[in-house]
Amino acid sequence: MVKTVAVVGAGASGLAAIKCCLDEGLEPVCFERSGDIGGLWQYKDNPEDGRASIYKSVIINTSKEMMCFSDFPIPDDFPNYMHNSKIMDYFRMYAQNFSLMKYIQFKTTVCSIKKSLDFPTSGQWIVTTEKEGKQDTSVFDSILICSGHHMFPNLPLASFPGIETFKGLYMHSRDYKSPEGFQNKRVLVIGIGNSGGDIAVELSRIAKQVFLSTRRGAWIVNRVSANGYPLDTLKTRRYVYLLNKVLPSSLINYIAENKVNQRFDHDNYGLLPTHRFNGQHPTVNDDLPNRIISGQVKIKCNVKEFKENDVVFEDGTEEKDIDMVIFATGYSFSFPFCDESVLVVTENKVSLYKYIFPPHLEQNTLAVIGLVQPIGAIMPISELQARLATRVFKGLVRLPAAQSMVHDVAQKRQKMESRYVRSQRHTIQVDYVEYMDEVASLLGAKPRLFLLFMTDPKFALKVFFGPCTPYQYRLMGPGKWSGARAAIMTQYDRIIKPTKTRSLDNPSRDKSFLNVIQVCTILILLAALLYQIIC
Ligand code: FAD
Ligand code: NAP
Repeated sequence: MVKTVAVVGAGASGLAAIKCCLDEGLEPVCFERSGDIGGLWQYKDNPEDGRASIYKSVIINTSKEMMCFSDFPIPDDFPNYMHNSKIMDYFRMYAQNFSLMKYIQFKTTVCSIKKSLDFPTSGQWIVTTEKEGKQDTSVFDSILICSGHHMFPNLPLASFPGIETFKGLYMHSRDYKSPEGFQNKRVLVIGIGNSGGDIAVELSRIAKQVFLSTRRGAWIVNRVSANGYPLDTLKTRRYVYLLNKVLPSSLINYIAENKVNQRFDHDNYGLLPTHRFNGQHPTVNDDLPNRIISGQVKIKCNVKEFKENDVVFEDGTEEKDIDMVIFATGYSFSFPFCDESVLVVTENKVSLYKYIFPPHLEQNTLAVIGLVQPIGAIMPISELQARLATRVFKGLVRLPAAQSMVHDVAQKRQKMESRYVRSQRHTIQVDYVEYMDEVASLLGAKPRLFLLFMTDPKFALKVFFGPCTPYQYRLMGPGKWSGARAAIMTQYDRIIKPTKTRSLDNPSRDKSFLNVIQVCTILILLAALLYQIIC
């Protein structure tokens, strides 16, 4: 009998989940609270209850070749860093191409997910949904939770004494939509994650003055990197990942800090943190240094207290007549619809094997998709997680015993805590290549590089030294896609096409295949290997 799967949410993760169910011959029913697909990327002028909300100008900070679904490249003429409306265009193309829409029940909220009475043997779930005030209950064989993790604002008002007497306006970044209404105001933005950076820059063009408060500073990286290539296409590579593994972390941090300081000295710009480069989720911002050097954004330390109209900072300085405050202080996540015996979240910490499977279930018939904060893009990660989960549901992949899964969860948490500064934003961090390889290994879809080097050496070099694009996880194993090799061979064309919009007569300059860095990498890796063999 065909197994049924309830998919909660039709954002990027939900769409990929539906497609993976279909690929595995499962029967998905997707429940989406709102009236459209796209989740967070579906822009609305007003925030909606129960769905993440973005501001009108959001441009993604992961580039198109790194964020696409692995068997559906983003059209070559789409920009590398897309506006949210363009991302929606891509999701619609994906949904249409794989005929996903008919599996989605819109304006339908999942109210509860509970184990069936015979769960230990059947593994089934009872799902209660609500549409237009009417409740409905159905039984499903499996569940894919794709409800996102940017829904509930973290508004830590208790940490800001005097906020109750402050006479200006304050809001969370979730409620910020556009600069309308901020003209000629003195605005304070609190928090220097990607929301805080983006909003401070945007407002600085029309506000009288913007102050950006950060309690620990940040290293700022640029979307546009060496030779104008998207940053993630240069950093998310197998050889870079290997270097990160074999070289001391202090050296890696030193190189990265040196590089970003060449663009602007973080000390002189008041941004220098005490933690190292790799100790924090990266803040990507192309304009912040320009706004600081032109005086329109002033960096401040943590807020000590609010007064009726003024704000006092921990260094004793005071800014008068602040009209508006935006708390860009991040998000909390939870699963209010899911039985507490299945998923418990405390301060953004949840026990999930590979961030997907609750380890204690008698039957592995529930998976959480997209609950990671990657250094890289979420979409291909969600897709790979869903590929694995659907194979687990079918019994084609067996998960380890509960004890081993719990051990793995604890190890990951310990590793994360030793690398990142303590913050509730650093509880689900993953590095793209490492994590994708880990999930792909369980699935059986990790590219076997040795085999590639033996059979197709030139291509293998591209896989090892080039961007680790999602297509790499469709080269072999279950879900293999015949277009994967061609997609990798043409990825540079799709990166260049949207920027090179003026045709030039002069022939392209020769770009040698192996550059100096790559040759050095080979030497370092060989030396590391030799060292391991000898010692
Ligand atoms: P969401 O997009 O949040 O979708 C979840 C869906 O589930 C929603 O449609 C919601 O309505 C539905 N839902 C929730 N609860 C229920 C329920 N009980 N019943 C029915 N439906 C429900 N990631 C990147 O990779 N690159 C980026 O550059 C990037 N930029 C970002 C910018 C901003 C401002 C923010 C806040 C996040 C950004 N992210 C980025 C992360 C973002 O989470 C992912 O891009 C992506 O949206 C995750 O998709 P998702 O489907 O998991 O979650
Ligand atoms: P975030 O990454 O969690 O950043 C929150 C910021 O608020 C951090 O600087 C944090 O500082 C600070 N903060 C939290 N609590 C605080 C407190 N009590 N007092 C002072 N400061 C506090 O949240 P976000 O910026 O909204 O980003 C959420 C997600 O969306 C991220 O994945 C991000 O990459 C993504 N995003 C992407 C884009 C884009 O693509 N253009 C734009 C916006 C957001 P600490 O570090 O000290 O905790």
